[in-house]
Amino acid sequence: MIRENLKLLTERVETSARRAAREPGTVKIVLVTKNIPVDRIREAYDCGFRVFGENRVQEFLEKFPALPSDITWHLIGHLQTNKVKYIADKISLIHSVDSVKLAEELEKRAALIGRNIRVLLEVNTSGEASKFGFSPDGVAGSFSNIKALPHLEVLGLMTIGPLTEDKVTSREAFRSLKVTKEKIEQNFGVSLPELSMGMSGDYEIAIEEGSTMVRIGTVVFGLPRWR
Ligand SMILES: *Cc1c(COP(=O)(O)O)cnc(C)c1O
Repeated sequence: MIRENLKLLTERVETSARRAAREPGTVKIVLVTKNIPVDRIREAYDCGFRVFGENRVQEFLEKFPALPSDITWHLIGHLQTNKVKYIADKISLIHSVDSVKLAEELEKRAALIGRNIRVLLEVNTSGEASKFGFSPDGVAGSFSNIKALPHLEVLGLMTIGPLTEDKVTSREAFRSLKVTKEKIEQNFGVSLPELSMGMSGDYEIAIEEGSTMVRIGTVVFGLPRWR
């Protein structure tokens, strides 16, 4: 089941990229394994997938030692500053930096362990109160503080699409993340290569709007809801 789901997902990701006149290889798949037991994660690993995302530190720390060491782990959920010390040396990319305070804590830890930490800044493009993240208008100001931290590498922006079935609304949110990224690039003369956007219900739209990383759980591990 997982194997077939991954095959179908890969095809759909590639098709969406081509539809937007993009090279299929420009979209990376992060398999979201929250609530998924280790044996099922290993099934996806055995299909050749190596990039996995967890959203809770405790759950990640339980699974980490039980899985192969060549997995690239991403943290995609809200991170509390007091948990930074547990994950700083194990996570390759943190998608969910949502405050300058968290960035400063990551900087402290990175300096301590002598390692750079790669991050994305989370932006709340939908304005939904339940979501973490900088506001689209505020993120540039915070970026200017965060880019001064020598051990943090900001690779781009991340957003969670709006809770809606309406494709127009989803598309607007993803487009706004891309515009926000381009503004930061221009204002600061930097390059932000990554846009982490798109989940099971909206990844095709996200890819059409420029996503470079889709975070996918349900359509691989849960009940398939292919339309
Ligand atoms: C759970 C989760 C996902 C994956 O969502 P699916 O709809 O299951 O694909 C992606 N991003 C974040 C931040 C999540 O928490």
